[in-house]
Amino acid sequence: MKTPFHIMIIPTLGCPSNCKYCWSSEEGSPIMDIRTIQDIVSWLSDFRKDPVTITFHGGEPLLAGPEFYLKALPILAEGLTKNNPSFAIQTNLWRMTPELAEIFKAYHIPIGSSIDGPKDITDYQRGEGYFDKTMQGFSVAQNHGLEVRFICTFTRHSVEEREKIVQFFLDQGFTMKLHPALPSLRNSNPDEWALAPEKFGELLVYLLDESLEHINEIDIMNINDLVRCVFTRRGNVCTFADCMSNTYAIGPDGNIYPCYRFVGMDEYVMGNVRNRPTQEELDNSKPGKLMSDYKQYVDSHCADCSHIKYCRGGCPYNAITPSGGTITSVDPHCSAYKRIFDEISGRLNTEMFEAPPMFSGFQNSPSLKGKKPGIMALMQKIAMR
Ligand code: SF4
Ligand code: SF4
Repeated sequence: MKTPFHIMIIPTLGCPSNCKYCWSSEEGSPIMDIRTIQDIVSWLSDFRKDPVTITFHGGEPLLAGPEFYLKALPILAEGLTKNNPSFAIQTNLWRMTPELAEIFKAYHIPIGSSIDGPKDITDYQRGEGYFDKTMQGFSVAQNHGLEVRFICTFTRHSVEEREKIVQFFLDQGFTMKLHPALPSLRNSNPDEWALAPEKFGELLVYLLDESLEHINEIDIMNINDLVRCVFTRRGNVCTFADCMSNTYAIGPDGNIYPCYRFVGMDEYVMGNVRNRPTQEELDNSKPGKLMSDYKQYVDSHCADCSHIKYCRGGCPYNAITPSGGTITSVDPHCSAYKRIFDEISGRLNTEMFEAPPMFSGFQNSPSLKGKKPGIMALMQKIAMR
């Protein structure tokens, strides 16, 4: 199965919020011109024919306003019919209005937003007033029938309050996608908020247990993804797949980058949509070669790791940018990935071993009835979707 083709459009790097651990917003960033959207369509029409997911990301993409989306969405949807595009947006929801909500509803756009737990924890990390503004936007989105999921960023501070955070998501009935705070490339103390790999590993095991304990009450997307990776022995999200050549991000000026995390960093510009670069030209750009070198580095560095098939060395951005663009190691979260992959594999093997010889599947097995849900029960829940 091919890795899905994903394009991220960054209409602006500006953001009205001021999250303390953010690495990706830039004050005064311009808004993408609609001609750049037309250039994106011209470029993609010849670039690849497979289905594409287009995610609007930022900065804060709602700063572009309804007039941008009213023009951009039909141009993309009609200009790329042969790529059968589907859309998504990642936003803090502060600028969500009924007008925007109606536009997104017309294009079946699911929303990813960000909240780090109850108000005190969220506002401590993301700035005073963040929680209320996001919840207000959430209520507009909800009233218009939009699907909203929340990224919860765990920092070295909030990880100590993980029970409170999970309880908040349970109480609200929110789906959680967790994100470990990364070392900031713009801060004189890069690790001030970053979640250390060993803490991240512990957190993942804790969240696995919470997912099983509350199997019918909460969805923790990363845990589902990790379980699916081990079960199918195949990466299914960008961190655990070779994202290179399958994901690109386009900045406000039309510059193309390997992913949204690199946007605004001149040394990672692969080309510009107005020049309609071919796949080969992007692969031969300096960042293209760097990404391909990372793939080869993973093949040798992780060769003895039992999880290489579905981990693929984690995220190249995490690995490459802290060392200034040279490849000196894999994703620093390697120990966290190993910890959770070992945990899931170990539990899965035990469950398989304990199942009767004619085991026909998941918790329907007589020997598993009455037991706490395990990995197979979670996999069944995921597969039933
Ligand atoms: S660089 Fe990292 S975040 Fe970006 S697409 Fe690749 S794995 Fe995902
Ligand atoms: S867990 Fe670590 S060693 Fe194993 S494949 Fe992932 S990054 Fe490589």
